[in-house]
Amino acid sequence: MIVTRFAPSPTGYLHVGGLRTALYSYLYARANGGKFLLRIEDTDLKRNSEEAVIAIREAFEWCGLAYDGEVAYQSKRFDIYKEYVQKLLAEDKAYKCYMSKEELDELRAEQEARKERPKYDNRYRNFTGTPPEGIEPVIRIKAPESGEIRFKDGIKGDMKFNCTDILDDFIIARSDGTPTYNFVVVVDDALMGITHVIRGDDHLSNTPKQIVLYEALGFKIPEFFHVAMINGADGSKLSKRHGATDVMEYKRMGYLPEALLNFLVRLGWSHGDDEIFSMDDMLRYFDPHDINKSASTYNPSKLEWLNAHYIKSLPYERLAKDMLEFGVDFNAHPKGELLLNILRERAKTLIDMATAANSIINAPQTYDEKACAKFITPSALEILAKYAEILTLNLDAAGYEKITNEFLELNGLKLKDLAQALRVTLTGNSVSPSIFEVLEVLGSSEIKSRISKILKEKR
Ligand code: GLU
Repeated sequence: MIVTRFAPSPTGYLHVGGLRTALYSYLYARANGGKFLLRIEDTDLKRNSEEAVIAIREAFEWCGLAYDGEVAYQSKRFDIYKEYVQKLLAEDKAYKCYMSKEELDELRAEQEARKERPKYDNRYRNFTGTPPEGIEPVIRIKAPESGEIRFKDGIKGDMKFNCTDILDDFIIARSDGTPTYNFVVVVDDALMGITHVIRGDDHLSNTPKQIVLYEALGFKIPEFFHVAMINGADGSKLSKRHGATDVMEYKRMGYLPEALLNFLVRLGWSHGDDEIFSMDDMLRYFDPHDINKSASTYNPSKLEWLNAHYIKSLPYERLAKDMLEFGVDFNAHPKGELLLNILRERAKTLIDMATAANSIINAPQTYDEKACAKFITPSALEILAKYAEILTLNLDAAGYEKITNEFLELNGLKLKDLAQALRVTLTGNSVSPSIFEVLEVLGSSEIKSRISKILKEKR
């Protein structure tokens, strides 16, 4: 069975880059009847892991990703790590190192003077003497002193690391007994039965060390997939300068989770020239082996384009529900569905939609000055007054179009003599969707009331 995991360190929010690797892990597990697990890497006890889980859960819920089973917290697994450190000591695969900080600094200075890579010289590897007084030892793994570490990365292909270049007998437990990062990741991934580790390629350099630990502990090595980073348009690593990094910020900005997931799945993976992927499509086509080798570029206009696509295509009920969070209750309006269907054609975000909806649902409190100066002229006001007289029944858009055309013809006018003035009258500004649809949404008595309001204020 395929078992994947998402293993964030607590930062208080879910980073979009994290959501992308979580999505990849989720898809691979779900598409293959496997399991997708969540582990919080909270060994740094200063950071609050509960908050991190709440933030992740909230973001996962919004996106519709679900993890299996209980959340694993590294902070609650220290006894397990200790046990495995002891096991390695007992098997002579790890040892106590009594080197003092001063000695280590001295060694480092010598190596630097010789322009060598600073590394521990394994001096306590075969130590049998009496340990120096007053030093709490660290525990170091016996890492291979020569040869190569090889593995096949599911994305990057064959990887080869020279042991002398990259390894020393690295620390697996500090002098206070706390285990180190690579050690806990390996113990956890192995005990959680992770078969496929999909993570950012900023962790690639940890992998040879982790492989040393898998081998020492006698655990099966999972398949690794190191996903290249997301960069901003300037080529530097994605940061707040390029756009929001907190997943929930996208929600607040009026993006739909379908759009964000679609955007993220395509950042670093493709299936032919396809751009639109529903969750079903992703589950059908996604394969982590097809993830791109090179970094991808964050392109906010693509996200906006996808968002506009999903705003146009999701069912009315779904959008109406999401719009409640933006303060618009379409179901409370007799023509709510029509209104939403009109607005969704041009909205890029749910905020755009809320702004446009409010300007139609509520009579304008103020009128855009420029639009007024241009369109609310004395003659336009007379035309509006006259137009109000023909509004007796509630009609549909075609009906309003018909009576409006008759009105224009009878009075020797063109649509432009009325339409913009009517838009300003009804919504406060001169941009709105098709005027006849707006008329249908409002109905004759509301249109008349808005016309009398502007006449009172401007005539
Ligand atoms: N906790 C690590 C991070 O947040 C991930 C470790 C891993 O996936 O192996 O970057």
